[in-house]
Amino acid sequence: MPDGSAIRAIIAKWSKYYKAVRIWQKYGGLRRSQSQINHIYYNHCKPCEHFNDDTCELCGCNVNTNTFGALNKIAMATEECPIKKWLRTKKAQAVMNGEITLQCGGCVPRKKFRKKKDD
Ligand code: SF4
Repeated sequence: MPDGSAIRAIIAKWSKYYKAVRIWQKYGGLRRSQSQINHIYYNHCKPCEHFNDDTCELCGCNVNTNTFGALNKIAMATEECPIKKWLRTKKAQAVMNGEITLQCGGCVPRKKFRKKKDD
């Protein structure tokens, strides 16, 4: 059974990761592509001195090649390396700065829908 400090470390890791996932969801859940994820993982994280068993020792996050953001910090376009070896994507940065607003790709804007219906 893990001692108190190990349990606190686990809770701290997961609360930090939960916060990152909430920010990622807040700004539209933008993801990196598989090739972008692979590039960061193999060229920056894996050879990094802070990499240990698919975990970043600095931020405590999972870093791997999974495309699902909740399982991999690299997949979340809003995330970046704590020592800036790789940065959040330009699009995610623009959304976070309020410079662009994401729209639902699958939905017909309500105004257009009404106009068509009235015609
Ligand atoms: S996120 Fe940054 S510091 Fe952490 S393992 Fe990857 S490159 Fe290293």
